[in-house]
Amino acid sequence: MSDPLQPGACIGILGGGQLGRMLSVAAARLGLRSHIYDPGANPPAGHVAERVTTAPWDDEGALRAFAASVDVITYEFENIPTATLDLLESLRPVRPNRRALAVSQDRLTEKDFLTGLGLTTAPYRDIPDAAALDAALAAIGAPAILKTRRLGYDGKGQVRIVDPAEAPAAMAELGGAEAILEGFVTFTHEVSVIAARGPGGEVACFDPGENVHRDGILRTTTVPARLTNAQRVDAVLLASRVLTALDYVGVMGVELFVTAQGLVVNEIAPRVHNSGHWTQAGCAIDQFEQHVRAVAGWPLGNGERYADVVMENLIGDDVDRVPDLARTADVQIHLYGKGAPRPGRKMGHINRILRG
Ligand code: AMP
Repeated sequence: MSDPLQPGACIGILGGGQLGRMLSVAAARLGLRSHIYDPGANPPAGHVAERVTTAPWDDEGALRAFAASVDVITYEFENIPTATLDLLESLRPVRPNRRALAVSQDRLTEKDFLTGLGLTTAPYRDIPDAAALDAALAAIGAPAILKTRRLGYDGKGQVRIVDPAEAPAAMAELGGAEAILEGFVTFTHEVSVIAARGPGGEVACFDPGENVHRDGILRTTTVPARLTNAQRVDAVLLASRVLTALDYVGVMGVELFVTAQGLVVNEIAPRVHNSGHWTQAGCAIDQFEQHVRAVAGWPLGNGERYADVVMENLIGDDVDRVPDLARTADVQIHLYGKGAPRPGRKMGHINRILRG
């Protein structure tokens, strides 16, 4: 790593959604500028960043100009096309690195990587064709979940198979996309660790949060999570192993199932994570500042948790509650500056600080 970025330096952010927006705000607080690159017009991050480039991922001229205007490049979502990264990487440092993206872009590669580290995941099989699905169902058993290898998020690209007879319909629903079959994990609850690693290899983890999903979308994160001391240590140690194995720089979300047999890794996200938003109200240094610090080569901050917090996403019409929430004590409101609320659209979130 080169020297830490100085005030006035610019961070390039691929993707201009709410995560990019909150990264831009964190960068600005540290005296850094940000430049957003997003194919969509009027991205939420554009309202708070110094510059926005609106261009497709394959616009070589726009990508070159973007890279020339920034000192380091990071991203707020993991599905960036390979060719885009190849070009950008030849021009500027990209953090987190390529391997982290490659591993998390493909559920099969991700599971192979995690189990290769000795971590526990759901049982899984590669499903290149219908015959493989029948064999996998025979081996893993039902219920199971058929998931596309790529481009799945917020529960999309997933079909539950309760009975093996449903296999053909499940294949048809995924429309021929490459897939894996995952055995159904019987968990008591879901938690995640938001972990950060600096360029010098130091790792800092936030306290695990407990997550509740509805319709495949995160609804709430509560800290502290219900975990035994041993589980809490286990969660943090396994997250650290993942980051170190990838020589990772930045913040990562590691999602875990809590089971009677121990922690099972669901998936990793090589970016700031919705389940880490509570850190904005619970810690002196939140996940966004921690990520900016890491990619800028600054020392990681102290992410110790000072409060109990419930983070709640404002999805679709939930945003109509904002006038009431604004009158409520101990509620921190974050709105993403998006247009019309649609069902399933993340419009903002609140952090409710709990007092004993
Ligand atoms: P994912 O997009 O893979 O994180 O899945 C979204 C949600 O579906 C998870 O947060 C779980 O609630 C549920 N889920 C996914 N995979 C499994 C599994 N193998 N067993 C049980 N529940 C799962």
